[in-house]
Amino acid sequence: MATDATTPVDIRIDKKRLFYVAWKDGHVSRFPLGYLRKICPCATCNDLRQKLSDAQPQPPAGGGFTSLNVLPDAAPRPVGSTEITEAHPVGRYALQFVWSDGHDTGIYSFDILRAQSPADPYQADEMWEGKPVSRLGEDLEAESRAKNAPLWE
Ligand SMILES: [Zn+2]
Repeated sequence: MATDATTPVDIRIDKKRLFYVAWKDGHVSRFPLGYLRKICPCATCNDLRQKLSDAQPQPPAGGGFTSLNVLPDAAPRPVGSTEITEAHPVGRYALQFVWSDGHDTGIYSFDILRAQSPADPYQADEMWEGKPVSRLGEDLEAESRAKNAPLWE
């Protein structure tokens, strides 16, 4: 059942860099697109994550949180896998993203997006491109606003 925590009131996409959701409860989630692709919930990506986590169990560095359902940064990524070409609503509960490499099987429910929100405390140690994901998302947004670039399209 949708709650204020999983009801988006504003969704914005910078197709090259960032996916932004403001939730009804006031929380804001900023997903760098590389990270968003990394948590793709489709069966293919789930299988890949499972194989990788079976092959190389990685204890959390420094006791930080390591999610088994998130691809490690070192996982191979197809060229063009971190830009979005289209996003479609799926009913009232999810979004489907079409990535620039053609991958389009991931249905991101609002429950999943909120649970994987980089700003949530348990995701704080999740790293992407050398920075905590939450920090990278904030940086991308701030940078774009500072340049007064049309961030959202
Ligand atoms: Zn996928």
